[in-house]
Amino acid sequence: MPHKAVFLDRDNTVIDDPGYLADPQGVRLLPGVEEALTRLAGASWRLIVVTNQSGVARGLLTEDMLQQVHAEIQRQLAQRGAKLDAIYYCPFLPEAPVEAYARDSDERKPKPGMLLRAAREMDLDLRASWMVGDSDRDIQAGRRAGCRTILIRHDGDQSEPVGQGDRGEPAGQDDEAWPDFTARNLQEAAEVILRESPAEPSAANPNAAPQSGGREIRPSHEMSDSQVLQELLQMARQLVRLREGREFSVSKLIAGIAQGLALLAFVLGAVKFIGLSSPAASSDAFWQSMGYLAIAGFCQVAALTFFLMNRQD
Ligand SMILES: [Mg+2]
Repeated sequence: MPHKAVFLDRDNTVIDDPGYLADPQGVRLLPGVEEALTRLAGASWRLIVVTNQSGVARGLLTEDMLQQVHAEIQRQLAQRGAKLDAIYYCPFLPEAPVEAYARDSDERKPKPGMLLRAAREMDLDLRASWMVGDSDRDIQAGRRAGCRTILIRHDGDQSEPVGQGDRGEPAGQDDEAWPDFTARNLQEAAEVILRESPAEPSAANPNAAPQSGGREIRPSHEMSDSQVLQELLQMARQLVRLREGREFSVSKLIAGIAQGLALLAFVLGAVKFIGLSSPAASSDAFWQSMGYLAIAGFCQVAALTFFLMNRQD
């Protein structure tokens, strides 16, 4: 049976990012990383780093130096009882100064090549897997590979504050960069993954649901109180955003004006029509009343049309 995996960006997700890290002595695990990895490994997740390392193509470090940095990451994790199952890196960059690495690569995120290769080499179920990273390109690569995604937004980020396991928000206009969830660090991301991924069937629990890529909200009786509160908070936030976004629209304004005109024309037409019974009524009065009623009908149709447009905005 294929394994489920958590793909991890390296810089600013697993380790601190000083920029093109070439010296193993500069490796600093981010706080709580080892706990997150240990928890995920304990729940049978394969842990795989997928990292762009264009510093090699830029001539800032060699692949040997990169391997030493990665060995140091594994050494520090091992000291704390954790480990990564694999580290995939992409050293390529188009038009870079080091000719051997100056090329476009399907493995450079946001392309999903590293995840796809890992899936082949390590027998992974991509639809049951997750991608966690701190940039849009991590999310894009994860989505293109068919994984669910978590965007890490550190506390110092300029983006709006987020809570643990918040559902994702659009990152600009690019649908592919929408994460399924956001988290402030890898520990929170691990919480989300463990919470959102149903347990595999086992002898003790043969009815457990299989892994799937779905995002269904589980029934409340399976959720803790804090999870129920969190879901409610999310729904309330979405409602507020929906209200703010739809408080005013041009189609709603036009619908209101058309409705007003329809009423006015109907009243004028009705008055004219009633006046037809008067002996003093002119011969044109009938056609005038019909004209007003026709205008009323047209405006009413227009009002309904713009009203429906507003509902579909
Ligand atoms: Mg990063």
